[in-house]
Amino acid sequence: MILVSACLLGINCKYNGENNKNEEVENFLKDKKFIIACPEQLGGMTTPREPSEIVRLDGYDVIKGKTSVINNQRLDVTKKFKKGAEETLKIAKLYNCKEAILKEGSPSCGTNYIYDGTFTGKKKNGVGVTTALLRENGIKVISEKELDVK
Ligand code: SF4
Repeated sequence: MILVSACLLGINCKYNGENNKNEEVENFLKDKKFIIACPEQLGGMTTPREPSEIVRLDGYDVIKGKTSVINNQRLDVTKKFKKGAEETLKIAKLYNCKEAILKEGSPSCGTNYIYDGTFTGKKKNGVGVTTALLRENGIKVISEKELDVK
Protein backbone atom coordinates (compact mmCIF):
# COMPACT_ATOMS: atom_id res chain seq x y z
CA MET A 1 0.00 0.00 0.00
CA ILE A 2 1.33 3.44 -0.96
CA LEU A 3 0.46 6.62 0.92
CA VAL A 4 -0.07 9.59 -1.42
CA SER A 5 -0.46 13.34 -0.85
CA ALA A 6 -4.16 13.95 -1.49
CA CYS A 7 -3.54 17.13 -3.51
CA LEU A 8 -1.55 15.13 -6.11
CA LEU A 9 -4.74 13.27 -7.02
CA GLY A 10 -6.88 16.35 -7.42
CA ILE A 11 -8.28 16.82 -3.94
CA ASN A 12 -8.65 20.55 -3.25
CA CYS A 13 -6.77 20.48 0.05
CA LYS A 14 -3.94 22.86 -0.88
CA TYR A 15 -3.51 26.04 1.18
CA ASN A 16 -5.21 28.13 -1.51
CA GLY A 17 -8.15 25.74 -1.85
CA GLU A 18 -6.79 24.20 -5.05
CA ASN A 19 -4.85 21.03 -5.81
CA ASN A 20 -1.66 19.72 -7.42
CA LYS A 21 -3.25 17.08 -9.68
CA ASN A 22 -0.50 15.16 -11.40
CA GLU A 23 -1.17 12.84 -14.34
CA GLU A 24 2.09 10.97 -13.96
CA VAL A 25 1.18 10.07 -10.40
CA GLU A 26 -2.32 9.03 -11.46
CA ASN A 27 -0.92 6.76 -14.19
CA PHE A 28 1.73 5.35 -11.90
CA LEU A 29 -0.93 4.36 -9.36
CA LYS A 30 -3.35 2.81 -11.85
CA ASP A 31 -2.49 -0.80 -11.03
CA LYS A 32 -1.43 -0.20 -7.43
CA LYS A 33 -3.09 0.00 -4.04
CA PHE A 34 -2.86 3.38 -2.42
CA ILE A 35 -4.45 5.64 0.17
CA ILE A 36 -4.51 9.43 0.23
CA ALA A 37 -3.99 11.87 3.10
CA CYS A 38 -3.47 15.59 3.60
CA PRO A 39 -1.36 16.18 6.72
CA GLU A 40 -2.28 19.85 7.03
CA GLN A 41 -6.00 19.10 7.05
CA LEU A 42 -5.40 16.20 9.45
CA GLY A 43 -3.57 18.65 11.70
CA GLY A 44 -6.74 20.70 12.01
CA MET A 45 -5.97 23.49 9.58
CA THR A 46 -8.68 25.05 7.45
CA THR A 47 -8.81 25.05 3.66
CA PRO A 48 -8.06 27.55 2.35
CA ARG A 49 -5.42 28.61 4.88
CA GLU A 50 -2.44 30.94 5.01
CA PRO A 51 0.70 29.39 3.48
CA SER A 52 3.31 28.21 6.00
CA GLU A 53 7.06 27.68 5.97
CA ILE A 54 9.59 26.08 8.31
CA VAL A 55 11.88 28.63 9.95
CA ARG A 56 15.55 28.16 8.95
CA LEU A 57 15.87 24.38 9.41
CA ASP A 58 13.66 21.50 8.23
CA GLY A 59 11.05 18.91 9.24
CA TYR A 60 13.47 16.78 11.28
CA ASP A 61 14.33 19.82 13.37
CA VAL A 62 10.64 20.67 13.86
CA ILE A 63 10.10 17.17 15.29
CA LYS A 64 13.11 17.62 17.59
CA GLY A 65 11.71 20.94 18.80
CA LYS A 66 14.63 22.93 17.39
CA THR A 67 12.58 25.15 15.14
CA SER A 68 9.00 26.07 14.32
CA VAL A 69 6.56 26.38 11.46
CA ILE A 70 5.01 29.79 10.91
CA ASN A 71 2.37 31.06 8.53
CA ASN A 72 2.73 34.22 6.49
CA GLN A 73 1.02 36.19 9.26
CA ARG A 74 3.89 35.07 11.57
CA LEU A 75 1.55 32.85 13.60
CA ASP A 76 3.19 29.74 15.03
CA VAL A 77 1.47 26.68 13.56
CA THR A 78 4.04 24.11 14.68
CA LYS A 79 1.57 22.10 16.79
CA LYS A 80 -0.79 21.68 13.85
CA PHE A 81 2.00 20.52 11.56
CA LYS A 82 3.21 18.01 14.15
CA LYS A 83 -0.31 16.73 14.72
CA GLY A 84 -0.84 16.38 10.98
CA ALA A 85 2.38 14.37 10.70
CA GLU A 86 1.37 12.12 13.60
CA GLU A 87 -2.11 11.48 12.21
CA THR A 88 -0.65 10.73 8.78
CA LEU A 89 1.76 8.25 10.35
CA LYS A 90 -1.20 6.56 12.08
CA ILE A 91 -2.89 6.13 8.69
CA ALA A 92 0.33 4.80 7.16
CA LYS A 93 0.63 2.25 9.96
CA LEU A 94 -3.05 1.25 9.83
CA TYR A 95 -2.73 0.50 6.13
CA ASN A 96 0.77 -0.96 6.39
CA CYS A 97 2.23 1.55 3.93
CA LYS A 98 5.92 0.94 3.26
CA GLU A 99 6.18 3.74 0.69
CA ALA A 100 4.80 7.22 0.17
CA ILE A 101 4.63 9.66 -2.74
CA LEU A 102 4.38 13.16 -1.33
CA LYS A 103 4.26 16.63 -2.86
CA GLU A 104 7.67 18.20 -3.32
CA GLY A 105 8.32 21.59 -1.73
CA SER A 106 5.56 21.52 0.91
CA PRO A 107 6.41 22.27 4.57
CA SER A 108 4.54 19.03 5.38
CA CYS A 109 5.16 16.84 2.35
CA GLY A 110 8.43 18.11 0.79
CA THR A 111 10.96 15.32 0.25
CA ASN A 112 14.03 17.10 -1.16
CA TYR A 113 13.43 20.79 -0.84
CA ILE A 114 11.21 23.20 1.05
CA TYR A 115 10.88 27.00 1.20
CA ASP A 116 13.30 28.82 3.45
CA GLY A 117 10.97 30.45 5.96
CA THR A 118 11.25 33.97 4.55
CA PHE A 119 8.14 33.80 2.32
CA THR A 120 10.19 35.15 -0.56
CA GLY A 121 9.94 32.06 -2.76
CA LYS A 122 13.49 30.91 -1.95
CA LYS A 123 13.98 27.15 -1.75
CA LYS A 124 16.43 25.22 0.38
CA ASN A 125 17.39 21.57 0.76
CA GLY A 126 15.33 19.82 3.40
CA VAL A 127 12.13 17.91 4.04
CA GLY A 128 8.68 18.67 5.40
CA VAL A 129 7.47 17.66 8.85
CA THR A 130 5.40 14.67 7.71
CA THR A 131 8.13 13.36 5.43
CA ALA A 132 10.59 13.51 8.32
CA LEU A 133 8.27 11.60 10.67
CA LEU A 134 7.42 8.95 8.06
CA ARG A 135 11.11 8.43 7.24
CA GLU A 136 11.97 8.20 10.93
CA ASN A 137 9.45 5.36 11.06
CA GLY A 138 10.99 3.42 8.20
CA ILE A 139 8.69 4.49 5.38
CA LYS A 140 10.33 5.23 2.04
CA VAL A 141 9.20 8.67 0.88
CA ILE A 142 9.70 10.01 -2.64
CA SER A 143 8.20 12.99 -4.42
CA GLU A 144 6.03 13.12 -7.52
CA LYS A 145 9.19 14.09 -9.42
CA GLU A 146 10.98 10.84 -8.61
CA LEU A 147 8.60 8.20 -9.93
CA ASP A 148 11.13 7.08 -12.55
CA VAL A 149 13.77 6.25 -9.94
CA LYS A 150 11.43 4.11 -7.84
FE1 SF4 B 1 -0.86 18.48 -0.43
FE2 SF4 B 1 0.61 17.74 1.63
FE3 SF4 B 1 -0.06 20.30 1.33
FE4 SF4 B 1 -1.92 18.54 1.99
S1 SF4 B 1 -0.17 19.11 3.21
S2 SF4 B 1 -2.09 20.12 0.43
S3 SF4 B 1 -1.25 16.73 0.89
S4 SF4 B 1 1.25 19.10 -0.03
